[in-house]
Amino acid sequence: MTDPLYPCFARADVAFERGEGAWLFGTDGKRYLDCATGIAVTGLGHSHPRLVDVLKRQAERLWHVSNAVRIPEQEQLAEKLCTATFADRVFFSNSGAEAVETAIKTARRYHHVNGRPERWRLITFEGAFHGRTLATVAAGGQPKYLEGFGAPVEGFDQVSFGDLDALEAAIGPETAGVLIEPVQGESGVRSLPEGALAHIRALCDRHGLLLVLDEVQTGVGRAGHLFAYQASDIAPDILASAKGLGNGFPVAACLATEAAAAGMTPGTHGSTFGGNPLAMVVASEVLDIMLEPGFLDSVRGTGEHLRARLEAFVAEHPELFEDARGEGLLLGLKCRRPVRDVLQTLRVKGVLGVAAGNDVLRLLPPLTLSIPEADELVERLRLAAIALSNPADIAA
Ligand SMILES: *Cc1c(COP(=O)(O)O)cnc(C)c1O
Repeated sequence: MTDPLYPCFARADVAFERGEGAWLFGTDGKRYLDCATGIAVTGLGHSHPRLVDVLKRQAERLWHVSNAVRIPEQEQLAEKLCTATFADRVFFSNSGAEAVETAIKTARRYHHVNGRPERWRLITFEGAFHGRTLATVAAGGQPKYLEGFGAPVEGFDQVSFGDLDALEAAIGPETAGVLIEPVQGESGVRSLPEGALAHIRALCDRHGLLLVLDEVQTGVGRAGHLFAYQASDIAPDILASAKGLGNGFPVAACLATEAAAAGMTPGTHGSTFGGNPLAMVVASEVLDIMLEPGFLDSVRGTGEHLRARLEAFVAEHPELFEDARGEGLLLGLKCRRPVRDVLQTLRVKGVLGVAAGNDVLRLLPPLTLSIPEADELVERLRLAAIALSNPADIAA
């Protein structure tokens, strides 16, 4: 029989039967340090006892009702998100792409109901990744994700990442806002220059535009703050969150100010599954854990420790690596070897990572990674580096 799955993933030949904290247990009997976390999803590690417990209890009570009725679990989570951020309003959905779509629709409707319907275009950035729906691939603008799918959805104007002059020059009478990732994840863990977000906020204010952040990857603690923008002293008008929000239970949220969300009146948007009680109680518990005193401080501490160790490691292997980069525990190593070879060798040494762009090894450990586990990661990277320098040694 041929493979019954769509052939759109180039999968590694490895499977897992169990996870515990930072570790995954393979069907091959091996233990792997999980620095992929299902692509920045399982930030609190696998099988977190508190998350298992709330999910089990909710599963016995109520799974799903529609958004035609009140959902108290949804109101409670929205309340928590608003208290912890700039937001006044929240819309729940199931994936990052949906949250970004909601953000795009919210920005367009804002101008529509404010008497400026001609303002519907968003400025985006080269190298961006916003998801795989037709509108979000158009927003990302990467030719490899657009090819063969017909005319891209209209309404996105792209400038180079971090180029603030080009951004200002791209603002026109049809511009509704700016859509940006505080750190570009997929295209190579690329941070914005210092102060750039504040500069973009000021430009938006001057031109009456909305600032829309895609924090699907950077949010929920990943970059060392609940949301990455909180490292600066500015706030967006709209923000998309997903990935880590449910620690693996599919859930996403679009956050907005009261003013920005004003156009999303009854009937303008919807979702069948979005915000169902199962997803809500899990995401609520994720937030409770992350907002406990000291949790995010400890993520920043582990991030700084690991970043310093990675910089030293890169300096030891200039033939293999160019630099260490990233924020919090969204880290990357720029490789001088094909990143697929690096990932494969690292897997043999018991570490799972993810590629970012063509040449960056992305390391996304759980936010609960201990310092000894961080040191073990660097030890295993060393073993992989030795094997990469001596191909005969790879399987040892
Ligand atoms: C992963 C990601 C998305 C898309 O999320 P899905 O859940 O795969 O739809 C959007 N934006 C960013 C920045 C991402 O990292």
